[in-house]
Amino acid sequence: MPHKKGRVFSGARPTGRQHLGNYLGAIKNYVALQDEYECVYCIVDLHALTTVDTTENLRQNTYEMALDWLAAGIRAEDSIIFVQSHVPQVAELHLFLSMVTPLGKLTDLPTFKEKARQQPHNVNYGLVGYPVLMAADILLYKADTVPVGIDQEPHIEFAREVVRSFNFRYKTNVLVEPQMKATEFPKVLGIDGQQKMSKSLNNHIELAATEAETTQRVMQMVTDPQRQRRSDPGNPEVCNVFSLHKVFSSPDEVAMVNIECRRAGIGCVQCKQLFARNLNAHLAPFRQRRAEIGRDPQQVWDVLDQGRQRAAAIAEQTIAEVKAAIALP
Ligand code: ADP
Repeated sequence: MPHKKGRVFSGARPTGRQHLGNYLGAIKNYVALQDEYECVYCIVDLHALTTVDTTENLRQNTYEMALDWLAAGIRAEDSIIFVQSHVPQVAELHLFLSMVTPLGKLTDLPTFKEKARQQPHNVNYGLVGYPVLMAADILLYKADTVPVGIDQEPHIEFAREVVRSFNFRYKTNVLVEPQMKATEFPKVLGIDGQQKMSKSLNNHIELAATEAETTQRVMQMVTDPQRQRRSDPGNPEVCNVFSLHKVFSSPDEVAMVNIECRRAGIGCVQCKQLFARNLNAHLAPFRQRRAEIGRDPQQVWDVLDQGRQRAAAIAEQTIAEVKAAIALP
């Protein structure tokens, strides 16, 4: 294996078919990181238990997400792709870390406060401990680099503090302080042009949708709200379609849209048609690979099982070192 810069860990809850926000905010970066880092990508089903009421879709959502990751170019032969609950040592490390975690620090985190507001009927122990489990994920695999959006920064800082507390308490250096790597495209807006693209808000564009479905979603996109008539000049700077043109269209097309929108040379319908065409062209190879891999679903489960084996080898080693450091009998 060529020399790599370090080890990346990233986890995402099993949310099923991925959307453009997941792609630009996470997956695209996951794919690129593989060239420079040894990557560990985890479908964090245990984290999902802190918020979901029902688990009936967990298996299917795990499968669909893994399929999207593979189709998008995450390489099972290089990277470790696995399901969090398949490597139970994470629960063990979570317990050890909880002993060096002040409770007040967890309840003070803005992410906890927000979740507690969102689900006042279900403020469970696991929800409070979510950052401890996230720290356990990262530390179990001794990842030094964690690619995350800016909203996750307090959790990475928390993981670093846990490392310092643990290593200080047990006079060891077995745990590694991870560094945060901010993602290039932190927030993709939904088709409403207002809120972050998200499945729960139903403002998303699925990667695995058909061309026709994608075009239909794109045509529903909200553009510059000041531009009400075809003859009104528009402002691309406040238009979500334009920001996505910059990702999926050629520089010439972006320049054309930028000029023609401002002088009402093209209308929003035409602009969206062009974007839909380019987006579909970009996603065509992904969709083809997805269909190919999806013909044999067992292939996906096999990849996840190989990932489990490789992840478990690292996890067992870390847990042995951690137990020795604590001096457990
Ligand atoms: P999780 O809560 O496990 O992070 P999500 O499905 O919300 O699950 O997100 C998975 C990944 O996709 C995360 O890295 C997240 O930052 C990214 N992501 C999700 N939605 C968007 C969006 N609208 N814009 C940018 N990134 C996004």
